[in-house]
Amino acid sequence: MTTDNKPTVIITGASSGVGLQGARALAQKGWFVVMACRNLEKTHKMAKEVGISTQNYQAIHLDLASFSSVRKFVQDFRASGRKLDALVCNAAVYYPLLKEPMRNEDGYEISVATNHLGHFLLCNLMLEDLQKSGNPEPRLVILGTVTANPKELGGKIPIPAPPDLGDLEGFQQGFKAPIAMIDGKKFKSGKAYKDSKLCNMLTMRELHRRYHQSTRIVFSALYPGCVATTALFRNHFSLFQKIFPLFQKNITGGYVSEELAGDRLAMVVADPEFNVSGVYWSWGNRQKEGRKSFVQEVSDEASDKDKGELMWTLSKQLVGLN
Ligand code: NAP
Repeated sequence: MTTDNKPTVIITGASSGVGLQGARALAQKGWFVVMACRNLEKTHKMAKEVGISTQNYQAIHLDLASFSSVRKFVQDFRASGRKLDALVCNAAVYYPLLKEPMRNEDGYEISVATNHLGHFLLCNLMLEDLQKSGNPEPRLVILGTVTANPKELGGKIPIPAPPDLGDLEGFQQGFKAPIAMIDGKKFKSGKAYKDSKLCNMLTMRELHRRYHQSTRIVFSALYPGCVATTALFRNHFSLFQKIFPLFQKNITGGYVSEELAGDRLAMVVADPEFNVSGVYWSWGNRQKEGRKSFVQEVSDEASDKDKGELMWTLSKQLVGLN
């Protein structure tokens, strides 16, 4: 059982990149961080490496690709006796080179299962924990990305295809083999990632629309900037992994360090000016230090209420929520 009075945040995928640096920044701001990760040994090692003291964090196992693991995580968190002030849905996988889909234990395509469905279940289960926190304005923050938002420059790149959920025909048909895409069309691994991140944005907007008024939970999303050095790109060509950070840093100027991305995440979780629900925060495509945040417009698809409702109903069925 806990004895300190620090506010508590859960960060999924805090063993690497933006999540790890967000954990570091929040611990520095006086928060207790629950690092919700699939590899606990790595998590402890990385926490030590970035200087998070053992008094300021706990690592609890979570594999977002497994819905039974998500349910077990919620039980384990509750057993810690901590009150939950904020939940950050940060973990993600990106497999741009796959020709055939990888699937989770339920047979669902892995990037949609991990990035969207696992988080969708986690958010739904933890709403009551956020509500019970005693914090007058608990927060639920989801990581978004430009590549899933055609209203932004980075979202206009048609390779392999822009995000598009169609009428969620793939979800409607049960999302199992041979189906691997939410729109039910041909498998395109890079598009599967974009679609999963579009679902993250629709989830945030639906959470806001359904629960903000009644629960006072502040739901938001952020684009932390292009963090070209993270392990997110580990499954890309090795040449891409070398050139992409240099290209972003020296040619486009659209580059932020992992530390700055983590600082931005911590601001959205903890700072008073980010106490606005239903919005998507950004610092723009040019990512120099010292830039001011602003509310970024989301795509037509991400603000489509009917699509949000359909995504909600079908995602509930796929993760077994009644
Ligand atoms: P990253 O360094 O690869 O971190 C991803 C994290 O997710 C890792 O901790 C990873 O765990 C974890 N993870 C993956 N699969 C998981 C699973 N099944 N269960 C639990 N955890 C799992 O990537 P990142 O760049 O920091 O990305 C973090 C977030 O930022 C993502 O939502 C991404 O979409 C978003 N984002 C990134 C960028 C960018 O340029 N990098 C831009 C916009 C948005 P392991 O350590 O065990 O692999």
